[in-house]
Amino acid sequence: MTIRRRSIAGSAALSGIGLHTGEQCAVRFLPGAPGSGIKFRRTDLPGRPEIPATVDFVTDTSRHTCLADGDATVATTEHLLASVASLNIDDLVIELDGPELPIMDGSARSYFAALQESTVIEVDGEADELELSASFTVETGSSSYKVCPSAHPKVSVTIDWDHDAIGKQSAAFSLSQETFEREIADARTFGFLAEGQELLDKGLIQGAALDNVVVLTDDGVDGTELRWPDEFVRHKMLDLLGDLCLLARRIRCSVEAYRPSHTGNIALVRSLKEF
Ligand SMILES: [Zn+2]
Repeated sequence: MTIRRRSIAGSAALSGIGLHTGEQCAVRFLPGAPGSGIKFRRTDLPGRPEIPATVDFVTDTSRHTCLADGDATVATTEHLLASVASLNIDDLVIELDGPELPIMDGSARSYFAALQESTVIEVDGEADELELSASFTVETGSSSYKVCPSAHPKVSVTIDWDHDAIGKQSAAFSLSQETFEREIADARTFGFLAEGQELLDKGLIQGAALDNVVVLTDDGVDGTELRWPDEFVRHKMLDLLGDLCLLARRIRCSVEAYRPSHTGNIALVRSLKEF
């Protein structure tokens, strides 16, 4: 059965500051030509350069996923791309006028809502799907992944942190737009207060605030109510789905991730590219 490609019929915009750069950035979604894939366009740079949203352009996976083509960069792609993938959008132009996508409230909700508002439609051409014929595993550092053939896409994630508010958490979902919207889109970025100064010194989290990151103190959560007791593992699933979007094919398999990281996620996508 042929599955048609999808794009958007209208446009939508949002803006905010980047978590790591702290820079203000305006984002606009526009329809992509059928077959053109997902592309970022830096409207603030001479020539308005485009950066394809594929794993070949990943340049940094420390704490967030960054893409670059020459001097044109786009940082923290994961929450937006998870929303793109959940809506099965294949062709899209994402214009931005800064180096990093806005963190918004730390979740994918604003991106998901904006894309929905721009009216997702079927367009010409066949969607590219990944169908595996055999299982395989990927291990990178403390992250490991098992991928198995499956008619329906499924993802499970387990994390294990020596922290009272987290501990060991597992979540597993069959993937659909509805599941993403209900169970995953609202899960926020989190970080440890104890690591804050070190990250600031490295030039990261310059835009972090209590309204865009769940901050973990030594024994709890600072200044917010968790949206779910296991919001942390749900956010790790969100990050994984965003990184998997960089395969630029719809995933039709089951993915089990243990202690996923952006570095591990990208190693997984590079392995999936071989199929
Ligand atoms: Zn994230």
